[in-house]
Amino acid sequence: MGVLVVGSVAFDSVKTPEREANDAIGGSATYFSAAASFYAPVDVIAVVGNDFPLESLDFLRERQVDISGLEIKEGKTFRWAGEYAADMNDRRTIDTQLNVFSGFKPVLTDRHRAHDHVFLANLDPDLQREVLSQADRPGIVACDTMDFWISGNRASLLSTLSRVDVLIINDQEALQLVDDNNLVRASERILELGPRAVVVKRGAHGATLCTRDAWYGIPSYPVTSVVDPTGAGDTFAGGFMGYLAQSGDRGVGALKRAMVHGSVMASFNVEDFSVRRLVSLTEEEIADRHARFLEMITP
Ligand code: AMP
Repeated sequence: MGVLVVGSVAFDSVKTPEREANDAIGGSATYFSAAASFYAPVDVIAVVGNDFPLESLDFLRERQVDISGLEIKEGKTFRWAGEYAADMNDRRTIDTQLNVFSGFKPVLTDRHRAHDHVFLANLDPDLQREVLSQADRPGIVACDTMDFWISGNRASLLSTLSRVDVLIINDQEALQLVDDNNLVRASERILELGPRAVVVKRGAHGATLCTRDAWYGIPSYPVTSVVDPTGAGDTFAGGFMGYLAQSGDRGVGALKRAMVHGSVMASFNVEDFSVRRLVSLTEEEIADRHARFLEMITP
């Protein structure tokens, strides 16, 4: 089974207290597909401008990610800039330029439509729904979002959420979405918006799963050197959805195991700027870290 993802392919400018990178390769679909490709075949739907160096995505092609659904449009690629505080869990968006994403109309091929796992990565919720409406009865649909859309396109986001099975969101955004200050309550309130499961990513503090009858939490894999957390949420989602597609299982037990895989993938991504760590990552490293993590979290 494979995964279809729609999301951003971007130029990111990132500032951490120690270092900074400008116009690095990023985007929610880029990080997601790199991570998910270690588990299952991945197809990407996105758009870039004619200023984008396509060879920078060669590492995805080498991992058999199908990027034939990446449209190249006259104009500028999506750009995002963010800054991290000394506590790397605290991030501020400095700039978002939608560029070629405004006016983008995704068109799915028969191959895209046939995927039974669909991930609506962080993107304009109108576009997320556009892709969903073209997919043939997908078995599991998960989605992510960000403060930009929660405050800027809320009604559309709520409409997307009413049609997804799993929302994968970070802690600050979960609280913002339902205007609450308690994560347990916020997760329960998000279930009322439509999803049957809510996964809240809490940066270095781990992740929680909330369904109507289950609650589950894991720590994050301990990483001593966090260089750049950008894309951690997307790589988490890639490991999560990739595992679900690989296993073909949709039960609560599978969702819990998927969280462990998501955490492992995110832990690699934060070790270097941009997608650098994902480019060098091997299956052996993933298997080794996954085994260590299981040992750590199993009493
Ligand atoms: P994460 O750190 O997992 O939340 O994801 C960060 C990635 O999301 C960056 O590579 C950005 O290019 C991308 N991104 C940031 N803001 C948006 C947005 N409003 N829409 C789509 N993608 C975005």
